[in-house]
Amino acid sequence: MTATHSTRMLILGSGPAGLSAAIYAARAGMKPIVVQGIQPGGQLTTTTDVENYPGFKDVIQGPWLMEQMQAQAEHVGTRMMYDMIVGVDLSRRPFRLTGDGGDVYECDTLVIATGAQAKWLGLGSEDALKGKGVSACATCDGFFYRGKKVAVIGGGNTAVEEALYLTNHSDDVTLIHRRDTLRAERILQERLFAHPNITVLWNKEVAEFVGGGAPEGLVALNLRDTVTGEISRLDTEGGFVAIGHHPATELFVGHLELDADGYIRVETGSTRTAVPGVFACGDVMDKVYRQAVTAAGTGCMAALDAEKFLAEAEFEAKQKETLDA
Ligand code: NDP
Repeated sequence: MTATHSTRMLILGSGPAGLSAAIYAARAGMKPIVVQGIQPGGQLTTTTDVENYPGFKDVIQGPWLMEQMQAQAEHVGTRMMYDMIVGVDLSRRPFRLTGDGGDVYECDTLVIATGAQAKWLGLGSEDALKGKGVSACATCDGFFYRGKKVAVIGGGNTAVEEALYLTNHSDDVTLIHRRDTLRAERILQERLFAHPNITVLWNKEVAEFVGGGAPEGLVALNLRDTVTGEISRLDTEGGFVAIGHHPATELFVGHLELDADGYIRVETGSTRTAVPGVFACGDVMDKVYRQAVTAAGTGCMAALDAEKFLAEAEFEAKQKETLDA
């Protein structure tokens, strides 16, 4: 049997952004509902060691951190729903969303925290060595490769920024790009080319991630030249795939303003989208920082923006009532 759930704040997504929004909203007495989505807990549930989330002296595990955030959100009054939203109607109020089992969610404010997924090359060897030398986030994992040879795959802003970032930990960084020109901004390219510890390999793609040692980890990359087809080997212990992300915004095409890469556009310095009452936070609106702590920060902002929106709407409604009386 299907049901209709009504709330002042509906939050889509249960990563650090969605759960931080929930903690703030619940503590403000808004009784938020969080719809968990396809990957409850978000990207951190597929991570192991987390060493950069403030508050923990020792290394913690990503899935544990998300369990704690969920427990905290529930403890202060959040209702968690195990559902997937498949339909949205933002053209009328309350907003109306539909779950894949037919349940309907009606809400006065909507906080979108559906996140983004890193793109991978799709090789079997890449999958086998994820978390064992293969990563999609140098800012998160670079520290674990101190003093080791590392490589970044990609030619956009992310790849160049990650290569530059990795020079904090390694004096042997290789950037591997499938063409002979980079897509990254000129200023980043200049910094990259000027760096003495970064080598750029042009016209190369990864044919295979090579594992070895015990416990098994990445030891090398087999590279294919995209012009000649020639195969070469690059010894490296860290392989950072930086070929872009997919923001989870398919549901909002035609309903909200998205940028050319599919990220939800928000007003600078806030989480307000083009539709009043709809807010976006975390990786679904941030393609620059993409950290758990920045997602949590924008989640908090979204809850505060939504509370302010409701307070203003209620004030205006009361004033109208007084004038009409
Ligand atoms: P991009 O889509 O800009 O770049 C992806 C790169 O990966 C391209 O160089 C592409 O190659 C390469 N690539 C894609 N697929 C493959 C594949 N299968 N094999 C090998 N290489 C592949 O992604 P980014 O994450 O770099 O950036 C996304 C957006 O975020 C951009 O708009 C960017 O400007 C923005 N951004 C801004 C930052 C900032 O302002 N500081 C920081 C980071 C991102 P090719 O060039 O041949 O297509």
